[in-house]
Amino acid sequence: MGARSVLRRYSDAWFSAAARRKAGATEVRYPRRRRALMPIRWYHGTFTLTGRTLRLPTARGCPPLLVRLDRPVPYLPGTVRSVKLLFADGRLCIDVTAELPVTSYPAGHAPDPQRVAGVDLGIIHPFAVAGPGGQALLVSGRAIRAEHRLHLADTKRRQRATADRAPSRGQHGSRRWRKTRRRARLVEGRQRRRVRQALHEAAKTVIDWAVQQRIGTLTVGDPRGVLNQPAGRKHNLRLRQWQIGRTLQILHDKATLAGIRVHLVDERGTSSTCPQCKKRIPKPAGRTMSCRHCQFAGHRDLAAAFTIATRTPGGAPTTPAHMPGGVVTHRRAGRHLPRVATARRDPRRRPPRTATAGSLGQRRPAPSRGVARPQFGARIHDATGPTR
Ligand SMILES: [Zn+2]
Repeated sequence: MGARSVLRRYSDAWFSAAARRKAGATEVRYPRRRRALMPIRWYHGTFTLTGRTLRLPTARGCPPLLVRLDRPVPYLPGTVRSVKLLFADGRLCIDVTAELPVTSYPAGHAPDPQRVAGVDLGIIHPFAVAGPGGQALLVSGRAIRAEHRLHLADTKRRQRATADRAPSRGQHGSRRWRKTRRRARLVEGRQRRRVRQALHEAAKTVIDWAVQQRIGTLTVGDPRGVLNQPAGRKHNLRLRQWQIGRTLQILHDKATLAGIRVHLVDERGTSSTCPQCKKRIPKPAGRTMSCRHCQFAGHRDLAAAFTIATRTPGGAPTTPAHMPGGVVTHRRAGRHLPRVATARRDPRRRPPRTATAGSLGQRRPAPSRGVARPQFGARIHDATGPTR
């Protein structure tokens, strides 16, 4: 069983590498590195899951492996099709594949495929959704972006602090260096889990809103064309951190489960097209799009989402002829991220330095010669001045 999944994984990796090399990507290497740990999958019928205990068969004649789970699996035991045991980011985890039924709704509440909403994906707003009747949803991703920036700053600081422990070329790493690497892996994994959780929550917000609006078709602008163009060092990193393929997959899975269809369409030009008069206008630098032909002004991402909705294959019957000023629902993604609760936008922003909060006050002229100068590191306090 274990050998089968290892072989399958290896052959998948080998064939995808071969296909990419054939397509001209010469930098792709075949999977040849020796690995200490490999993910192993057990299929339906070979494992038993009772409560928080997972029983996995091992070699013939050996006692089974009992894995105690951190929390119960959120699916009914009969729906679990396979489990995968993997070691990721310094933690042993179980990946569960379950077959779930599509949600059933009471009569008159099911999503209507004729009701279409356009979805614009972005970094500042992971999802901007424009639905029929001027209803719209904006999910803010500023907390996610801040988490990425915070993580990058932390990584740089950590690397600077631990660089002298790194082994030189050709040398075996010290025990201390291995501990350092392990710590770095744990931190990386935590950041990945945090961002993934935020993306799931953002997608769930969209699907909940769509179900509430009885929207049966989501037309999503696919921005993956931009990922293949070199955009410079900083913007390339931003685009990588955006995780667009994962975002699309998460949205697609949740929509399918809710009984909502998803169409992927070309999003080219949607953020520089006026939704009212359909003329091309320069792409706005900020969040507000204003058209000089028809005096339209509105949110740039919602305008793009509206234009995307009109590109639904087979037409969008309920799409109104113009974008009215309807109800815009605002939601934030990643509310669980550290220090987000207290901050309005970016949790990395420090609170303003006010005179009461430890400010040294106005700079005073340097003391004149003859007066004893303070020792290095000492600070002069006077009775009336602010104290730290
Ligand atoms: Zn216009």
